[in-house]
Amino acid sequence: YANRAFVSLVDYQPELLVGKPFLALTSASSPADTPVHLMLPQRYEMRLLRGDGSVVSVAVTSTPVESVDQHHRQVIIVRDITQELEHKRQKDYFFARASHDLRSPLTSIMTRLYLLGKKPEQLETHLRILEQVTNQMLGLVNDLLDVARLERGETVLNRRDLVVQTMVDQVVEVQRADAAMKAIELCTESVELPLHVYADPMRFTQLLTNLVSNAIHYTLEGGQIVVRVRLGDWNARTCAVIEVSDTGIGIDPQHIEHIFDPFYRAHHDYDGGSGLGLHIVHEIVQLHDGEITVRSEIGKGTTFTICLPLISAEIRVVPEEQSLIR
Ligand code: ADP
Repeated sequence: YANRAFVSLVDYQPELLVGKPFLALTSASSPADTPVHLMLPQRYEMRLLRGDGSVVSVAVTSTPVESVDQHHRQVIIVRDITQELEHKRQKDYFFARASHDLRSPLTSIMTRLYLLGKKPEQLETHLRILEQVTNQMLGLVNDLLDVARLERGETVLNRRDLVVQTMVDQVVEVQRADAAMKAIELCTESVELPLHVYADPMRFTQLLTNLVSNAIHYTLEGGQIVVRVRLGDWNARTCAVIEVSDTGIGIDPQHIEHIFDPFYRAHHDYDGGSGLGLHIVHEIVQLHDGEITVRSEIGKGTTFTICLPLISAEIRVVPEEQSLIR
């Protein structure tokens, strides 16, 4: 007997299954330690060959049942573990990348300390680089802690009523010096109406800072960055739309769908960070019930667009301008 769930998991006609030994479904790529007989209670993982030739990873629990006749029988419970294995693969990848990214600056610190021992008179140069590298490590560790907290759903938001334009102006002011160093024009364009959203000011600043500093980083000297704020609709709700547009190097279409994955970097030949920034931005936007999208063209530039729901219903009178938000 095979129940409906098993039949649909392996995608065979029931009449082809009944009467066949269970292990006849073992895929050639199954681990070598798959048991040869099932006379004892056992738990193991294996790969099953499906009717269409594809393979599914399963966890098996088999229990012999008392024999009422000459035949041996087992109850075999099969659980699809494709997703669990994928999570495990992602976790392993995450650890490998995190360890690798932490090892590189540590090696650099050790080299500097060695050189400092040899030539103490170059103290100032070495100290400057040691400071840079330790800041880079601190940034990475903070990002890793952020990702871990976000994944565990432990990020606590201190949400308040914020005016989007005020937040944007603050971030742009802080980033102006970095843009000026590359002769990049950094400006804002906004509707006059102050747009109120219910957001955590620290997280909101973090996500805007990430997008603007990325725009500066991936735009060549003399380029332009515009941060636009406007009203829009998303998911049948009125929202504040924030666009960060640059005239930078752009992102190849093949990378766009992965750009928010942890550790994903689209430009390996370009000096970059850990590839965690956009993942954190994406998670923060989601926590605020919003959406982030990206459009890009190689050599022309990139635009990240965030939609955040406006604070609902109430009519807000803004003292200086006497504007109505809704
Ligand atoms: P990183 O720390 O490497 O900048 P992010 O997560 O912030 O990591 O970004 C992931 C990747 O997305 C970057 O490595 C880069 O390849 C690409 N990217 C992000 N922002 C831009 C941009 N404005 N223009 C072009 N590429 C970008």
